[in-house]
Amino acid sequence: MIQHSCQETEPLLSGYLDGELTAGDRQRVELILDDCMVCGQAFDEMRKMRQRVGAIDYEKMTSQEKDQISRTAQESVGASVGQVLFLVGVFIVYGVGAFWMVRGLIGDSEAPLFLRVGAPIMILGMGVLFFTVLFQRIKAAKTDKYRNVRI
Ligand SMILES: [Zn+2]
Repeated sequence: MIQHSCQETEPLLSGYLDGELTAGDRQRVELILDDCMVCGQAFDEMRKMRQRVGAIDYEKMTSQEKDQISRTAQESVGASVGQVLFLVGVFIVYGVGAFWMVRGLIGDSEAPLFLRVGAPIMILGMGVLFFTVLFQRIKAAKTDKYRNVRI
């Protein structure tokens, strides 16, 4: 039987849970817990309470995770903007290249007629497609931004 006062032991129990005790105090608390039902129950209560506090910590963690998710969403908006920039770049290079190619074809009287007519139409069609995709990308990026605000 360990000589102790249950009331005086309580702060030690809390310290034990926090891992703040010296090795000697830890050993004493362990002996008391083995020995005293009252302190054992107090210890269990305290541990349950810590677990509840731990649950609150977990909620904090999930709000951090939410931050993480919204950060990821911002990154995906960044990726969308990257795609738009890429498409704009491709369109400029492609547009200038197509312009030179069409001008060369139309100016070249030796090129077959189907090529002189077909190529500009094909290039125009591809240009329209590029614009369509470009605007869809811009729209998608804006929608992502609004979704982000909601988070
Ligand atoms: Zn006790």
